[in-house]
Amino acid sequence: MVRVMVFPRRYVQGEGVLADIGKYLAALGDSALLIWDQNVSDMFSESVMKSLEENKVKGVPFVFSGESDRTQIGLGIDMVHKAGVKVVAGIGGGKAIDVAKAVAWKGGTKLVTAPTIASNDAPTSSATVYYTEDHIMDGWEVWPGNPDVVLVDTQVIVKAPVRWLVSGMGDGISTWFEAEAAYKGRRGAISGGVSTLAAWTLARLCYDTLMTFGVDARRDAEHKVVTPAVDRVIEANTLLSGLGFESSGVCTAHAIGNGLTAVPQCHAFTHGEKVAFGTVTQLCLDEDKDPAERNRVVDWMIDVGLPVTFADLNMSDVTEAELLNYAAGFVGPGSIAHNHVFPVTPFSLFSAMVAADALGRERKALKGK
Ligand SMILES: [Zn+2]
Repeated sequence: MVRVMVFPRRYVQGEGVLADIGKYLAALGDSALLIWDQNVSDMFSESVMKSLEENKVKGVPFVFSGESDRTQIGLGIDMVHKAGVKVVAGIGGGKAIDVAKAVAWKGGTKLVTAPTIASNDAPTSSATVYYTEDHIMDGWEVWPGNPDVVLVDTQVIVKAPVRWLVSGMGDGISTWFEAEAAYKGRRGAISGGVSTLAAWTLARLCYDTLMTFGVDARRDAEHKVVTPAVDRVIEANTLLSGLGFESSGVCTAHAIGNGLTAVPQCHAFTHGEKVAFGTVTQLCLDEDKDPAERNRVVDWMIDVGLPVTFADLNMSDVTEAELLNYAAGFVGPGSIAHNHVFPVTPFSLFSAMVAADALGRERKALKGK
């Protein structure tokens, strides 16, 4: 049994740090490919290019399609080779960052990730999740290292729609339960080993931070202000969740979150929203979980605005046969759902999803929602 923990080389979080990106890029090289989508480019290219100029870094923009697919990654690698850049920076959501990781590792450059939303834990990790051009998850790849710099501008993040911050909480709330489940079976994480005390502790801190500050952070973020609650939740969603999941392991919550990308009714939902429902399901699947704690987590999800029922995920019209079929897909050979210490079958997962939906409906009714 080998314990492995992996990290980005530097994590920077604060108000206005994106407008200083040139300073961080200059420490890594004198030219950078900037990967962003059209929307992010429209919002930030002026301030980013100014910072590059001030720090004597040549910026080469690459406006990608918005999807983390192999075509976009190929285009990015071509640009790295043609322009001979030393650094790749992914600026935007998880997909821009995942494309940037692949382009940097395959192109042989340094890597900076600068999330403009705190919707998931991609910015710190060494993995790229691939999607098809039709937005269905299409596997993932783990790179030999993590980003050189993770640059998290809290002022930028709090100005984005609050749904993204809430989605990041959905991704983050799963971290502790998945870490705990994976470690019980001494299952390895994508870091290449089993959890360390450090990753284990950070996964737990992620959970405690979100449960304590999540509701306040949502309210404050609706008013577009960075408060201590918002600052802590951004760190939980990005750093704590990222280090926790990557070096402690994932399990059923993510098997479902990833699997739901193949359910057409769910296409409009974010990664974190799907993982939130996956977390409720995992808590209903695991006989060791305390029902009182499970209920507290579901109540918290309702309070912050995460989906806890089929109806919340637009899945009300999915038939029992379809659901069983999806469940079979989620626990196929090699599925991360098998990281539990107990066997997970299509039928046990189907049953847990039905139980999660019923629990979610009951807790919402108790709250009058
Ligand atoms: Zn995730």
